[in-house]
This record gives sequence, C-alpha cells and structure tokens, in this order.
Amino acid sequence: MQRPRTFHIVTFGCQMNLADSSTLASALMTRGLSRVDSEDEADLIVVNTCSVREKAEQRAIGRLNEMQRHKRTRPHTKLAVVGCMAQRLKDELIDVVPHVDYVLGTDRQFELPDVIDGIEGTSKVMTAFGHEEIDRLAPIKENSFSAFVTISRGCSNYCSYCIVPYVRGVERPHDPARIVQSINELVDDGVVEITLLGQNVNSYRSGDLDFPGLLRRVLDETPARRLRFMTSHPKDLSRDLVDLMAGEPRLLPHIHLPLQSGSDRVLKKMGRKYTVQQYFETVDYIRARMAYVSLTTDLLVGFPTETREEFAETLEATRRARYDSAFMFRYSVRPGTAAARMQDDVPEGEKIDRLNTLIELQQAIALECNQREVGRVCESVVEGTSRRSRHLWRARTEANKTVLFEGDGIEVGQVVPVRVLSADAFTLHGALVREDG
Ligand code: SF4
Repeated sequence: MQRPRTFHIVTFGCQMNLADSSTLASALMTRGLSRVDSEDEADLIVVNTCSVREKAEQRAIGRLNEMQRHKRTRPHTKLAVVGCMAQRLKDELIDVVPHVDYVLGTDRQFELPDVIDGIEGTSKVMTAFGHEEIDRLAPIKENSFSAFVTISRGCSNYCSYCIVPYVRGVERPHDPARIVQSINELVDDGVVEITLLGQNVNSYRSGDLDFPGLLRRVLDETPARRLRFMTSHPKDLSRDLVDLMAGEPRLLPHIHLPLQSGSDRVLKKMGRKYTVQQYFETVDYIRARMAYVSLTTDLLVGFPTETREEFAETLEATRRARYDSAFMFRYSVRPGTAAARMQDDVPEGEKIDRLNTLIELQQAIALECNQREVGRVCESVVEGTSRRSRHLWRARTEANKTVLFEGDGIEVGQVVPVRVLSADAFTLHGALVREDG
C-alpha cells in the first residue's frame, strides 16, 4: 500500500472540532505528511464531523459521497472520517458510505498517523473510548494570530437534547501544566489571541484547581495578551470568575452563556439545572461587575411540549438579557438522547415560525448593542481583508465582534486601535486610530 504523503482536513461543526483538526494536522505533520490546501491534491482526506444536528450529519455524508470521485481519478486516495458522527454511527457509517477507508471516533482520531502506518488498528472502524492521545499532542496555530487550546474534553451534563456526552464521553480535564506549555509555545510562535475550549469550561477541575484557578495560572505563567474561553454553563459560572475578568484586561470581555429557553418548565425538561431567575442573577452580577462586556447565547425553540406561552417567555428573556448575538436553533431529535424519548410534538411549521420570530427580535437587539459601540476605540486583531471588499481590513474586537476599516501598512495579526463609526446588526465599521490622533 502506498503511504499517503499529503493530507487535507475538511471540518464540520464547532470550535472544538476546529481545535481537534488542528491537533490532528499537527500529529500528521509530525509523522512527515504535508498539508495541502485542496482535497484534489491530497493522498489522505480527513473529514471531521459533527452530530449536534441531523443537518450537519447529512451535509457531511453528502460531502463524503462527493469525495468518491477522488477514488476514481486517484485510486490511492484514502478517506478517513473522524469526530462525532464517526463516533455515533460507527460501522453503520460504512454501510452509508462504503468507500470510506477509516472511521475513527472522538477518542481514537488522534491515532490516525499510526493507523495509516499500519502500527495501530486492524479494523476500519475504531470507536472505543479510553484511548485518548490528545493530552500529549500539541495544537498548531491555524493562522498567524489566534489559536484554540482545549482544556477539557467531553461533557458530564447530559442535557436531554444533546448528543455530545454520548459522542465525546464524560468530561476529562487536560493537565494544567500541559495547557500552560501549549499556550507558551503558541505565544512564542507569534499567536496573540488564545481561546480556551471546553464543553463546559466552568466545571474544569484538576486536583484543587478550578477554572478561575487555571486562568490565574495561565495569566501568571504565560505572556498571552488576549485570552478568551468558551463555553460557559450558567449553572457553573462563578462570581470568582466574573471578579477575575472584571479586574484583568488580558481576559477579554466576552461571555457566551447559553440560556436555551426562558421557561423554567422547559429548562427542567432540557436538564439544564438552573432556573431563569438563577440565570439572570448571574447576568446581573456580570453586568454590575463589568462595565463593558459582550454577552452572547444559544437559544433552542420548539423543544418537546414547549407551548406558545413558554416560547413567549424565551422572547421576554431575550429582551431582558440584551444579547450582543445569539446562535438560534429549532429543536431536532438526536437519537439516543433523553429528549428522543419525548414526543417531538411541536409541528415543524410552528418551530420555523418561532425561530423566525426569535431571529427578528434578536437582530433588532444586536443592532442596538452594536450601535452602542459607536465612538468606542476597540483594540482589534487584524484577521485579513473583508469578504466583500479587499479594500477593507477585517479585525476582531475585544468583545469578539467584527470591525471593518481602511488602512495602509496593516499586517494580519497586528493589534490595532479602531474607532467604531457605525454599525449594523452583524458588523461594526470603523477607522484606524493613528498614533498622532
Ligand atoms: S452542557 Fe449540555 S448542551 Fe453543552 S455539551 Fe454538555 S450536554 Fe451538551
């Protein structure tokens, strides 16, 4: 068998998957494979998949079917499926896409270099838990300015609608010394912004070290200039963390705090383990302690048995929280979860109507939030040029918003002060603040 010399990774899903793809790329490159920009040139194509929604799985399967053409034109091409869908479907995936060569689950995907070298695995499908290699692997930066560092894997919360604990296993913290080392290596390599990732960063615990403790250690032992983290779970986000953020400018003022529903009864059925009142006690504390903070969320509409009145409570909570932005979804059944045993009784048309109503409301709120940024000078990391106009630079503000501006002599990865001049619901528009004024 010809050993692959080049690889290309296609990633679906969340930032955790992006981080995993970076780590896997690092592992393959360490083994001598070269990364190529196009799947047409790759001897090994890796598809890192998502199972959070059915649509994400369908899209991945569509892409995998399309990729069969590479096997026809270049028969030595190997196709590997990794990540959550590989973990969930296991052998079934081979029935659906028989031309796939390897199916490696979330705990086995980092063994791919051994698998292609014939060191590991006699089977096409490897999905057993308990073989995780990631703690000894270093992530690579995906660009010159930002990187993800995973602080824990898996989740032990078992929210009733969510597939993550089943496909990523229970929560396992990474070693704090390794986290600090990874960050130092990335900063040495020129990275200015680090995002710490976990399904629920607030429940991080390694020995006596909790999440604020980990952040203090990172602040003390690394020179990282800009630190973010996600995702926070409202039941675990502590006042200690908010106090730390309030006094530390290197911790950027953005908190992603998924509410999911504004109804206590629905939250209970979702297994979220907080009430709306408790959620807003946390929000109120954040807003009281942090003069400037961007709050974002996830909202799920049409959960089994959700009534119109309960959906109206979600609208009310959205108005009250004044989110800078939100990921909004309509409920879809994930087989194997607790909610899959409930009757999916909100009609699809009604779910779509609720979602559209919520999106309309949230866009109006986002517009107001963004317009409040007008006049502010944001220290922003330049990410590249605008997707619409190559004459405009695109940068990320401390609050995780996109700002567009004009300027000469700018470089990607630079941190520049940009004064916000106008805003729409999605983007800020600004001007570079020059040293002389
Ligand atoms: S906290 Fe809940 S929604 Fe988030 S990953 Fe864990 S189970 Fe899923």
